[in-house]
Amino acid sequence: MSVKRRDLLLGGGGVAATLAVGQLASSDSASAQAPRAPAKWQRDADVVVIGSGACGLPAAIAAREAGASVILVEAEKDIGGHAITSGGNVPLGGGTSVQKKYGIDDSPDLLFRDLTDWSVVEPNGFPDYRYNDREIIRAFADNSAATFEWLVAHGVIFVDKAPDAFGGTSVGNSVPREMHSAAMDWPMVQTGKPADPMIQKMLSTGNGLMRPLEAAAKKAGVQILLEHKMTAIFREQPAAGRVVGIAVDNNGRTLNIRARKAVIIATGGFTGNVNFRRMFDPRLTEEYCGLAGMPWSNQDASGELAGMAIGASLWGFYNQTGEFGSNLTKPGTIGTQFGYVNLKWMPGSAVFDRARASGLSVANWQDLILVNMIGRRFYDETGGQFTANDYGSIKDYKQGNYLNAKNTKYSPNNFIDAALAGIGDGHNGGGPIWAIFDADAVTREKWDPKPPNVDIKAGLFFSADTLGDLAKKIKMQYQRVPMPPENLEQTVARYNSFVDSGVDEDFGKPKPLHKIEKAPFHAAWATPVVHDSRAGLRINAKCQVMDMNAKVIPGLYCGGESAGGFSQHGLARAACQGYIAGKNAVVEKA
Ligand SMILES: Cc1cc2nc3c(=O)[nH]c(=O)nc-3n(C[C@H](O)[C@H](O)[C@H](O)COP(=O)(O)OP(=O)(O)OC[C@H]3O[C@@H](n4cnc5c(N)ncnc54)[C@H](O)[C@@H]3O)c2cc1C
Repeated sequence: MSVKRRDLLLGGGGVAATLAVGQLASSDSASAQAPRAPAKWQRDADVVVIGSGACGLPAAIAAREAGASVILVEAEKDIGGHAITSGGNVPLGGGTSVQKKYGIDDSPDLLFRDLTDWSVVEPNGFPDYRYNDREIIRAFADNSAATFEWLVAHGVIFVDKAPDAFGGTSVGNSVPREMHSAAMDWPMVQTGKPADPMIQKMLSTGNGLMRPLEAAAKKAGVQILLEHKMTAIFREQPAAGRVVGIAVDNNGRTLNIRARKAVIIATGGFTGNVNFRRMFDPRLTEEYCGLAGMPWSNQDASGELAGMAIGASLWGFYNQTGEFGSNLTKPGTIGTQFGYVNLKWMPGSAVFDRARASGLSVANWQDLILVNMIGRRFYDETGGQFTANDYGSIKDYKQGNYLNAKNTKYSPNNFIDAALAGIGDGHNGGGPIWAIFDADAVTREKWDPKPPNVDIKAGLFFSADTLGDLAKKIKMQYQRVPMPPENLEQTVARYNSFVDSGVDEDFGKPKPLHKIEKAPFHAAWATPVVHDSRAGLRINAKCQVMDMNAKVIPGLYCGGESAGGFSQHGLARAACQGYIAGKNAVVEKA
């Protein structure tokens, strides 16, 4: 169902019937009422895993190798979730073989203390680790190195170099832990082709993490059911007793799959579900439809909603509400719905029909201005997104020392907050952000502003010979008020005067360099991109899901972005929790 509705996405010219991907999820998701277990099951296995991403595949393999029969259901046409689209930067530490090889002295205790260090704050002042659940972090710290060795044993090849600090956020400040899964010769989901042979062993990508795990799962005998979307989880009684199975939708056909021992939720989070994400930040309304990782897979909260419908508790809200690293990002490519800086969809990709455009990668933010719905600038365009913390980012870091906050180099950099501030008309969301540039910028950036690089059909890219005409052309579903042409003309005239004087009197952009004066003029979608889920279902050290009374829901497990209590960007916590959940699910009594 969601695929068909996605195809309606963002029709041009402000057509009211169009939908954004972010709007889809709540109606697709499990009901808020506890569902009744079916009388008949069409399939069964000891362990049923929901989702084939960074958590789900390790969970399925670990459970299968421990002797359980395993069915893994995946909503999409292919495996991998956000993980396969990812940068493959995997911060597993605590004393891995590679850390040892390079003389890096790490241990589970050091990792635990790092990830619970109250004294660490990001350069914008938000504390990374203060609100982490100690039980969950202890389990991660104790299993982190083992998960790394397990990934290697299951065919993942890491770039042959010392662990570094590249690519992660909130991964602990004492020692470098970041490892990088190498692309090798697996076809890249972004292009449909393997990476250039010259860089296959050096290029860090999620393709190199997930394809080997898919192969390992198949070899182990995990049954992978693609295009099987979980729609409900069942307990013996609607809201009591063991979890006994799930319902799935397979292209309109409903199947009930019995789980003799356990169900593992590995559905990857909720940031694509507008209503769900707004529980944490009311500003994140529908226009933030360019979720990182889409359209390969969505984060529609279906795991959380199905869990909550049978009594599960949510956990760790602050980690989602806080302004961390890549939770919300400045787009790196413009003129496309999916502008996440590290993910560019090319026409050879299997999902290009849904991505529709690759976008124009911005090399230099001096080449354009960013304006809000009413054609006003709101920030220094060279500004960045929320800041991040990692090894080496605090001078003289000492675990648990109050001086860490003092030694942090603060940089409030609230570009994202400025973009989300909107136009002061009482609405929650900031509305579309448009990149405005001229023909000279196109030359400087070497852009080709035509499809398939830009998405004209969906109303994400406009061109005109005058600025006034450009403003009049900007029409699409989230442009809830027309852009006054005189505003855009005045904004550009004022900006051009800053280029003459060399001083941006409004927002302090460092020495504005280029006037916007040569037709044609362009407006490209440049709205912030939603990225991480850092809150989710409450779990314990074994990744068992807990209810509102802090009681384990028997037979239900969760990990990765659908689990709460752990503020860290991605792959490591997901893979480690999958490994933990898979092992524990097997020992459940059938
Ligand atoms: C572009 C990008 C780059 C990233 N780079 C990095 C990085 O370099 N390092 C890092 O640590 N993290 C990175 N991340 C984050 C990381 O990829 C995620 O945190 C991680 O993949 C989360 O794992 P998961 O298993 O929870 O979810 P996912 O990997 O997203 O897997 C969830 C799976 O569940 C499926 N699913 C959802 N609902 C259902 C349902 N109802 N029924 C059946 N299946 C369902 C989805 O289709 C998906 O396949 C990146 C993310 C993106 C998008």
